[in-house]
Amino acid sequence: MHNKTMTQLAHGLRSGEFSSVELTQAFLDRIKQHQELNAYITVNEDLALQEACAADIRLANGNPELLTGIPIAQKDIFCTEGVKTTCGSRMLDNFIAPYNATVVEKFNQAGAVMLGKLNMDEFAMGSSNETSHYGAVKNPWDTNTVPGGSSGGSAAAVAARLAIGATGTDTGGSIRQPAALCGITGLKPTYGRVSRYGMIAYASSLDQGGPMTRGAEDAAIMLQTMAGFDEKDSTSVDLPVPDYRAGLNNSLAGLKIGLPKEFFGEGLNSDVAVTLETAVNEYRKLGAEIREISMPNLNLAIPAYYVVAPAECSANLSRFDGVRYGYRCENPVDLTDLYTRSRGEGFGKEVKRRILMGTYALSAGYYDAYYIKAQKIRRLISEDFKNALAQVDVIMGPVTPTTAFGIGEKIGNPIEMYLSDIYTIAINLAGVPAMSIPAGFAQGKPVGLQIIGNYFAEDRLLNIAHQYQQVADWHLHIPKGFE
Ligand code: GLN
Repeated sequence: MHNKTMTQLAHGLRSGEFSSVELTQAFLDRIKQHQELNAYITVNEDLALQEACAADIRLANGNPELLTGIPIAQKDIFCTEGVKTTCGSRMLDNFIAPYNATVVEKFNQAGAVMLGKLNMDEFAMGSSNETSHYGAVKNPWDTNTVPGGSSGGSAAAVAARLAIGATGTDTGGSIRQPAALCGITGLKPTYGRVSRYGMIAYASSLDQGGPMTRGAEDAAIMLQTMAGFDEKDSTSVDLPVPDYRAGLNNSLAGLKIGLPKEFFGEGLNSDVAVTLETAVNEYRKLGAEIREISMPNLNLAIPAYYVVAPAECSANLSRFDGVRYGYRCENPVDLTDLYTRSRGEGFGKEVKRRILMGTYALSAGYYDAYYIKAQKIRRLISEDFKNALAQVDVIMGPVTPTTAFGIGEKIGNPIEMYLSDIYTIAINLAGVPAMSIPAGFAQGKPVGLQIIGNYFAEDRLLNIAHQYQQVADWHLHIPKGFE
């Protein structure tokens, strides 16, 4: 059961081959068997089985949706009413949200079953899932390596078949990078496509939620449920949501693919480069035309991001003050002591580093030199995408410079860690959508191919991913021990 696609499961549920309760129980058993991965922070057995039971009734009475009865899991950054939401932090270790995030609400309405809440880097800051208060997540392909981050629990759970699909969020690569390192499909939608209401904010102008699944068809199904205007999120965009499955089988003949030369230079591991070349060649066989393009400002993305993201996070995280909710230090002597010790004890090292960088960049004396400058670079990077996407339909490139690295290998060196997002960050600065799809293996570990499209072209990206998955079966490979 756990290797089926969502469409196959929906069929099995309707034909009475198995019930949602049986399906859910099978996943709960697998989650128990594979606790060594540390993919989940919270597993809600009782609630999941209750939801499965309700789904079975809905399936029997008619009017089910495609996701009715299908077990998925939520990154622990999405607020869930009645179920703990930690955001991977000690600060929220005891936090139970009084409401559901819009995304969670939408899955509830579709009748999907929520297995639990997935591990992540603290407040989504990280590229390895090692900054979580709940410990590192292990990559099912090699448990000595990281699954990537910050949606590391989501990627590991989907790759190890501990959920059919999962949600992730992507501020600078956190859906695509872990998807690449764990050999699954991840989609970061256009900024504004998916509501951020109830999704704990890291950097509000960059954060975007999206699906993480084994294949593109499942991603289309999940995105269908997640996307759409939400009056509770003023940055969500009021545009109709297309039928994401309708165009999956469109031909790719004549598709123009651009390969930015800046993506294939120094720094890209040569085995990864060879694997990507083979994947791109597959597109040539599918009728696509490949062109080299140039995006001269891409090299400015990391420095600009590490001003903008910390600046926004320093403002967003000021709400965690020990007063209203979350961690509070013991026996404060006065208000200042309450603030400083609650924040000092509640936040981990990386989060504090970001807050320090952000407040520095926003301080009166440095605002023009750093923040304004970074915003100007952001504009230049958006222009690069605009120019490139005027010449070609989509851009392709690597997701990560290397395959999964060792647990402990980079955590002591923030700059090196930041560089693991070198190919993903520019996309968030521009706000365009992008996917990572499994494109083969290098040194026995998964490699992701990145596909970047124009604003709101998620349907085209899914079509391009799905067509590849009809001729290459990397997304069907199963890590050993998780069959
Ligand atoms: N690794 C990047 C960071 O730490 C991106 C994280 C993300 O996309 N949430 O900021």
